[in-house]
Amino acid sequence: MSIKPATRISQVTPSMTLAISAKAKAMASSGLDVCSFSAGEPDFDTPTHIKVAAQRALDAGKTKYGPGLGEPRLRELIAHKLRTENQLNYTAENIMVTNGGKHSLFNLMMALVEPGDEVIIPAPYWLSYPEMVTLAGGTPVIVATDGSCKITAAQLRQAVTPKTKLFVLNSPSNPTGRVYTPSEVQALASVVIDMDLTVVSDEIYEKILYDDAVHQSIGSINGDVLSRTVISSGFAKAYSMTGWRVGYLAAPLDLIKAASKVQDHSTSNVCTFAQYGAIAALEGDQSCVEAMRFAFAQRRQVMLDRLNTLPGLTCPKPEGAFYLFPNIQETGMNSLDFCNALLEEQQVAVIPGIAFGTDSHIRLSYATDLPTIEKGMDRLEKFIYSRQ
Ligand code: PLP
Repeated sequence: MSIKPATRISQVTPSMTLAISAKAKAMASSGLDVCSFSAGEPDFDTPTHIKVAAQRALDAGKTKYGPGLGEPRLRELIAHKLRTENQLNYTAENIMVTNGGKHSLFNLMMALVEPGDEVIIPAPYWLSYPEMVTLAGGTPVIVATDGSCKITAAQLRQAVTPKTKLFVLNSPSNPTGRVYTPSEVQALASVVIDMDLTVVSDEIYEKILYDDAVHQSIGSINGDVLSRTVISSGFAKAYSMTGWRVGYLAAPLDLIKAASKVQDHSTSNVCTFAQYGAIAALEGDQSCVEAMRFAFAQRRQVMLDRLNTLPGLTCPKPEGAFYLFPNIQETGMNSLDFCNALLEEQQVAVIPGIAFGTDSHIRLSYATDLPTIEKGMDRLEKFIYSRQ
């Protein structure tokens, strides 16, 4: 007898990034020398003072259930960070600590989206957004963007229908690394007000910015926008804490209360001692964040320079995150064929753009060391020239 999963599960696509990362790891453990640019995960260890704080919390008996919304001190610190760094007028009661940024978005979708509701998602998008909307019973409305990979105010306005419930904004973006400028954010905020929208701003890469790029949170435009804004973020990318699973949602109080019902009946609180690591991350010296950002900046330049010498590939310089998103259209291959052939022939793992809603691109993560980047680029070069 086979057990039949719910229909909503058949509507959801498994995560291609996790699948390709797993395939690359399996190839590596079978003895192959794989260069993986697939994972969205910094290669650095978590900074020592954060690990020590969690170890101390364990020793101090922080091993019990805690408040569902998070440790009070952590909620205070997150609200303080959002007020002082992002000009978002929140207090601790507007904050829910979640099991990573992914979980904060999932809680939100479950709390907000009803069957029939439309959620506007600009493409290229982080691949979990549409799947979360679908799991919540809603309809993802994918809006294709131009070469800038950023949705314009006019495109947003045009995508709105009476069924629109939410607009998803992600800057700096995964997969493109593009960052919306303050004037672009301002223009989108005007549409949010005019069209009476709710916006979720996924700001998980906000600390990873290059050159003169700045991060402006859409909720900082004014109080009216803030009352329609939800912020999703976390500690994974800025503090290299991917496995800790600590993120947060910041929103108007009623929405936090609604989302906390989802969390209370699914996971309860986030791992108690992990939250003490997050407290140390916010209270401690921020130079670890800057050191990692500096390393990413160097790697971005090396990978970008190599990519842009290859015939058939074009890649703009991204302003944030740790991904390059070159256009591969001129190679004549679609993104899945390109990635499968590259992995089979040269043992280089990258993610097909189709996973992010754009088949003409591939995504490379440069959250890996420079020797691996150099080796992987040598192999990519061989792959491209083998097809000339
Ligand atoms: N949002 C974006 C755009 C991401 O790229 C990721 C992770 O890759 C997340 C959210 C979730 O991060 P986490 O759940 O690890 O905190």
